[in-house]
Amino acid sequence: MAVSIQFTAEHIQSIKQDAEEAYPNEACGLITGRTINSEVLEVIRVVKAQNIRASETIKRFEVDPGTRIKLEKEIRGTNELLIAHYHSHPDNPATPSNTDLINAHEPELIWIIVSVEGGKASDVAAHQVLEDKTSFKKVSILVK
Ligand SMILES: [Zn+2]
Repeated sequence: MAVSIQFTAEHIQSIKQDAEEAYPNEACGLITGRTINSEVLEVIRVVKAQNIRASETIKRFEVDPGTRIKLEKEIRGTNELLIAHYHSHPDNPATPSNTDLINAHEPELIWIIVSVEGGKASDVAAHQVLEDKTSFKKVSILVK
């Protein structure tokens, strides 16, 4: 399992901007990158996606499957991998919710969560679900 994920400042800015624009709904998107070593992943691209469940009363997210299929086609045969996805927590902390745990079907993907307080993006955190899917563990975010 990854210990840290390395972003550029522009990547973080792009996630925060998407989260602010989607507020009060949840924003979501996909993140590609490459393996630096067994503990570090480096982000290559942050790809915005439509949240196909944004209009539901209870706040949740689901990445538009069309965006994922298109992205997976683009990176096939390259060293670029789908390493993470992101979503926002409007007026809630950047920690995984119970709903997030229930929906963590892919233990290899890192979950990036951005908190949006009153329309302004604040904390960004990374988590990865444990193999037994009983809880998430924190992954360090590095920004260069
Ligand atoms: Zn969540």
